[in-house]
Amino acid sequence: MAVETRASAYQTAQRRFDAAADVIGLSDDTRRTLREVKRELTVHFPVRMDDGSVHVFTGWRVQHNISRGPAKGGIRYHPQANLELVKALAMLMTWKCAAVGIPYGGSKGAVACDPTKLSLNELEHLTRRFATEIAILIGPEKDIPAPDMGTNPQVMAWIMDTISMHSGHSVTASVTGKPVDVGGSEGRTDAPGRGATYLTLEALKYLHFDDQTPTVAIQGFGQVGRSAARLLDEAGLTIVAVSDSKGAIHNPKGLDLSALEEHRQVRGGVGGFKKAESITNEELLELPVTVLVPAAIEQQITEDNAGKIRARLVTEGANAAVTPEADQILHDRGIFLVPDIIANAGGVIVSYFEWVQDLQAFFWEEEEINTKLHHVITRAFYEILHMSVNKHIDMRLAAYALAVQRVANATTVRGIYP
Ligand code: NAD
Repeated sequence: MAVETRASAYQTAQRRFDAAADVIGLSDDTRRTLREVKRELTVHFPVRMDDGSVHVFTGWRVQHNISRGPAKGGIRYHPQANLELVKALAMLMTWKCAAVGIPYGGSKGAVACDPTKLSLNELEHLTRRFATEIAILIGPEKDIPAPDMGTNPQVMAWIMDTISMHSGHSVTASVTGKPVDVGGSEGRTDAPGRGATYLTLEALKYLHFDDQTPTVAIQGFGQVGRSAARLLDEAGLTIVAVSDSKGAIHNPKGLDLSALEEHRQVRGGVGGFKKAESITNEELLELPVTVLVPAAIEQQITEDNAGKIRARLVTEGANAAVTPEADQILHDRGIFLVPDIIANAGGVIVSYFEWVQDLQAFFWEEEEINTKLHHVITRAFYEILHMSVNKHIDMRLAAYALAVQRVANATTVRGIYP
């Protein structure tokens, strides 16, 4: 079962690539090159645990492509992480960076571990040793890690410090998503949710919906979901439902987000919020809202429920929340999708800004960062929309086609060495 899941993540990534390659008529030579990852490093490394025992962990760093610039991609700590999944995620990063036009290739890293079961001390030792093991690949000009599932700004600070200790001086540009105190960027925490908000507003403008006050349901109330909820609410939309892994709540008149935030901090989740009724996560996905934002985990809208989605616009905040089969069903039903590759790209765009600020040792105000984010992500949206309309393809395929074309151009013009 686990092996099947592993195979399918990379196969799905290659399947999406093949479809995009067909759209742009990619040559067989370039297709063979881009279909594979460039480098894959597997490391097994010992960590001394708090009880004195030694545990050997396995981790990976994969670079899919570096034709357009240094590789960029997060590091995930998760028990089910594996090489095939990391390869798939590295490939997705190549397309994501190219789709939004930032000068990076794509990479990803992971350690198979459950960070919730490690002490802070064990987490730090694991992180510093893993950073040392992959130090032959990473660095500001080569490959720049960032947080992903199970990692956070503190983990990034440890990686930056480890690389800096090896170099004998501070190398702040070696990772992004760091705390602001050590070269992190203003606006980074909200960036994925902010990008999703900007694109939801652009899509609504394009679609000319006549809803007086568009309503929104958000699955997942974590970093992406909470930022999106707050910012969409500030933009005048009505958030009628949200959920987390423990439950979902609904109030057709709109949720009081500041009261909900207080409730979440006390209760540790959205469940039991008094000013709303409890529903299931499945019901949340099928509510008759203007906008649905899946911002939790992958494979939430599938061939089983895509026919029941009643939102008119889906902004895919979480990576791979919609399966390829569901893509087709949503498209056939006239439901507009803003795909993950751009919907949550605010994170990597502001990571790029962080790297640029670190390299020039000159930091920008949050307002400037948000303005630049708006420019980059909105430009990408309209370029992809243009491709989608011109080629009569859905937004995801259009995003992939545009991205693959950019990477193929860079790969071809550079030629094959030697
Ligand atoms: P997070 O861990 O902060 O939040 C995830 C939320 O989803 C939590 O509220 C959790 O309880 C909820 N959840 C988990 N399983 C659920 C389920 N079955 N039903 C409903 N809710 C469920 O994670 P995040 O950083 O917000 O990331 C969410 C998604 O966005 C992931 O796919 C991630 O890869 C993607 N993403 C995150 C960033 C980022 O910078 N945080 C950037 C780009 C993409």
